[in-house]
Amino acid sequence: MSPRPDSTPAPPPSPSTPLQGGCLCGAVRYEITAEFITAGYCHCTRCQRRTGTGSSANGRVPRDGFRLLQGEEQLQAFEPGDGATKLFCTTCGSALFSGDPFSDEQVAVRLGGLDADPGIRPQWRQYLDFAAPWEPLEEHDGLEHHAGSRSS
Ligand SMILES: [Zn+2]
Ligand SMILES: [Zn+2]
Repeated sequence: MSPRPDSTPAPPPSPSTPLQGGCLCGAVRYEITAEFITAGYCHCTRCQRRTGTGSSANGRVPRDGFRLLQGEEQLQAFEPGDGATKLFCTTCGSALFSGDPFSDEQVAVRLGGLDADPGIRPQWRQYLDFAAPWEPLEEHDGLEHHAGSRSS
């Protein structure tokens, strides 16, 4: 881990400047070669359980800008039934991404798994009605706030 440099976003990932990421144990590695479409925090109960934290920071990339480099055999999919499939590493339990990286149009990548600056900053918070009571949240933090789903 390197110390936090500054908050100016880095140039977005591209085919010539790919951004890599992976799980805690290193078994699963992936590469992003396209600009993030959007990024934000999800405060839903499912994300709280899934991550063990107050929210999940995600960025969405087009499917063709996401490539699994190694560890496909370590990936386990949790399918809640009424939402996107969640993929995690069976060895270390790291939450990696949601959506099927082999067929879905977009992949929601957990920003904490990235090796470096994604070139985008979170723009919104969703499911704030379900936010953990112990998490400090500011009313005016410069982000879009959504009580429920951002898309509804
Ligand atoms: Zn792992
Ligand atoms: Zn969520």
